[in-house]
Amino acid sequence: MKLPQPETIGFTTPDNVDLLLTRYKGGEKGPVMVVHGVSVWSGMFRITTVRENFAEFLVRHGYDVWLLDWRASIHLPMRQFTLDDAAANDFPAAVESILSRTGAASVQAVVHCVGSMAFFMSMAQGLLPQVRCVAVSQVAMHPVVGTLMRIKAGLRLASAIGALGMTHVSPLPDPDYRMLNAALRLYANTLHHECASTACHRMTFMYGHMYPHRSVNVDTHEDIPQQYGPCNITTLKHLQQVTIRGHLAKFDYGAQGNRARYGSLTPPSYLDGAAHFRRPITLVSGAANQVFVPESTRRTLRWLCESNGPQFYTRRVIRGFGHFDNFVGARADRFCYPAFWEQLEKCP
Ligand SMILES: [Zn+2]
Repeated sequence: MKLPQPETIGFTTPDNVDLLLTRYKGGEKGPVMVVHGVSVWSGMFRITTVRENFAEFLVRHGYDVWLLDWRASIHLPMRQFTLDDAAANDFPAAVESILSRTGAASVQAVVHCVGSMAFFMSMAQGLLPQVRCVAVSQVAMHPVVGTLMRIKAGLRLASAIGALGMTHVSPLPDPDYRMLNAALRLYANTLHHECASTACHRMTFMYGHMYPHRSVNVDTHEDIPQQYGPCNITTLKHLQQVTIRGHLAKFDYGAQGNRARYGSLTPPSYLDGAAHFRRPITLVSGAANQVFVPESTRRTLRWLCESNGPQFYTRRVIRGFGHFDNFVGARADRFCYPAFWEQLEKCP
């Protein structure tokens, strides 16, 4: 099916970052806000190389769809930010924009990857009371990464790259950083043999295998350079910190910086905000996800159930799917989209 003509709505966060919402009004259900990860943009939900993309799927089911480009979007100017900055500003402002435009009392949300982590940081602080239910893709409060990424987090790779003076890392060949290009070529030649796409190899280097290659069609794979882009080093450092810690916490500025900012030697944990999650949440993992392994959502489910009782929460593990292919996979419309949709349907 074809998408209706989109409406593009710009808005500014309290800390003065200009963000974008793209609206496809498919019907009276929702509104549903859809949140992308890092090194990508809202385009991941409306790729034109699959039978039906996620935006089309929601429109076909009668939803008023709002795709958010939050500050991590590769189609917005790159800036240095912590996930705390995005959590405190982007999602509350986006929800407020949607509510004021629609007159709705609440929204539903579908959130993916690092976008989901930042969104959960926002919820944990009680900043999103108007979100009535959430369908989560791949990770929420407990990032558990694949072996390769665990090794890299252990080596403090983001810190090392930051110490070299680099401001960002990109899956696209980057004229700013020729040394990294050379190192990544070596990496791709020795480790990553699934395909010949440079962008694909670099994305694997940055985050782990995005998908089992049998899961994406040829056109989508060739379009990959249009979907990927740089991530700033501050966000990568924050990701590294929470991955090592095993759960979401505020940015770690070091003992001295933490004491000045937080009044404690270590950064505050977002796990203290469990009471704010008393609402329906479905956690979805690709069984073959090597970026954030399925253990990520299993831990969050257990924590949610222990904190608030099991009545609000569901978890789905989708066989044969990895990470990014939950939205861009050739058969995601049949096997993945319904898992998110079921949560939305349960909270009309
Ligand atoms: Zn590839």
